[in-house]
Amino acid sequence: MIHFPGMPAPLARVVEMFSTLPGVGPKTAMRLGLNLLTRPASDTLALASALHSLHEQVSFCDCCGCFSEQGHCHFCDDPKRDRSTICVVEQPVDVLMMERGHGYRGSYHVLQGRLSPVDGMGPDQLRLVSLDRRVEQGIREMIMATSATVDGEATAHYLANRYQQGAVHVSRIARGVPEGSELEYLDEHTLSRALDQRVCWQ
Ligand SMILES: [Zn+2]
Repeated sequence: MIHFPGMPAPLARVVEMFSTLPGVGPKTAMRLGLNLLTRPASDTLALASALHSLHEQVSFCDCCGCFSEQGHCHFCDDPKRDRSTICVVEQPVDVLMMERGHGYRGSYHVLQGRLSPVDGMGPDQLRLVSLDRRVEQGIREMIMATSATVDGEATAHYLANRYQQGAVHVSRIARGVPEGSELEYLDEHTLSRALDQRVCWQ
């Protein structure tokens, strides 16, 4: 509990709530709280309203697990999307990152986590029942877009073993040199992986 003698209780509550957010320490929480006090009341009301509607209006897609405002998400509802290709990601926010590239026209599946024995995350904790169902309904390709971490790689391998059968083609997104970056600033793992996954000159 953050306690500053003489601080009004409503301000203390706001500071306390801010300090529970990731990356926000007590000093930053205090600065945010004080900043809100100096702004017009309409600003804080707008913030409160936005926060209120967050849980009221945003949920997760019944099918793919991405952000949704009603039952199915924007991507599952889009008839132009290729439903026979599924890109598997760890978190809903990963879908938003993938979409920034504007190049992918398939569908998604959000695992809501990744395998991590240390954190008690096993296959039963991931959204695999719904993925099993989608695979049973027939898909052509599954693209693993889990993170480039040890746990992310382990998750991709687990899923590849689970689904690479029959007509399902399982692939993994390539890791490599970011656009516009100098080689000297890359870590050795990124560089060696980029070399391993080199592509033919076109
Ligand atoms: Zn969806």
